[in-house]
Amino acid sequence: MSNAYFTISTEAGTSPASSVGALGFIGASEGLAAGVRPFRLEKATETRNTCPYCAVACGVLVYSKSDGAKDAKPQVVHIEGDSDNPINRGTLCARGAASLGFLHSPNRLQYPMHRKPGSDKFERVTWDFAMERIAKLAKEDRDKNFIAKNRDGVTVNRWVSTGFLAGSSCSNEAGYLTYKAMRSTGILALENQARI
Ligand code: SF4
Repeated sequence: MSNAYFTISTEAGTSPASSVGALGFIGASEGLAAGVRPFRLEKATETRNTCPYCAVACGVLVYSKSDGAKDAKPQVVHIEGDSDNPINRGTLCARGAASLGFLHSPNRLQYPMHRKPGSDKFERVTWDFAMERIAKLAKEDRDKNFIAKNRDGVTVNRWVSTGFLAGSSCSNEAGYLTYKAMRSTGILALENQARI
């Protein structure tokens, strides 16, 4: 069996599909056009972000679209590695590559939840409630456990009975402010899983 080779012209004014037709493949142009699917991210909004999982802090591109209805909330439809990010250069590990599933998971925590003393279930609460409750408990704990001086009388201003965990989506600037704010309270146990 012999192999046949031909090239498709892309000269100005000549489309590849019509060149195929000119070679005698009648209807080939329509066939080719019908087989081309529109790029599914064509009308999506691209947003840069950081993978939320680990300290590597890979850059991701998040694509969202709405269905065009008035006031419709855009939905995230695709997430991929950011090739411009110097950390991962477009690559993602299995966890980062599965971010879309995490984002749309019905088990994903999206609101502050509170379990009342003695209760066996968590209930959704407002951010105001959550912030006030955290501030109240933190102050009570700090008032009770703050260490102003060590046993040698040296001022140390430590608060070691409470810790703070920041998030990997913080930028350098947000991470710096978080560090400053928490250290000003005397907290020593401060961690942020990303180093960006
Ligand atoms: S893609 Fe993987 S390696 Fe990169 S930040 Fe996410 S979990 Fe970490």
